[in-house]
Amino acid sequence: MDHDKAACNECAFFEDHGTERQHTDDGGLCRFNPPVTQPDANERGLWPVVATNDWCGHFAPEHRA
Ligand code: SF4
Repeated sequence: MDHDKAACNECAFFEDHGTERQHTDDGGLCRFNPPVTQPDANERGLWPVVATNDWCGHFAPEHRA
């Protein structure tokens, strides 16, 4: 894989707008995996927050029509 082109904001799993619970100003949420951390038993899990120029081994180029 060409890591020079991998970036979260170009990835199919990146969501660039945070939820009301997880607002992010310069990043977004990675939705590759389910949320894993949960502060309390009665709370929802949190999605990983990533920067637009982050990347990981699951990077998948976003296919736009
Ligand atoms: S962390 Fe990986 S899978 Fe998630 S948005 Fe970034 S490149 Fe895509």
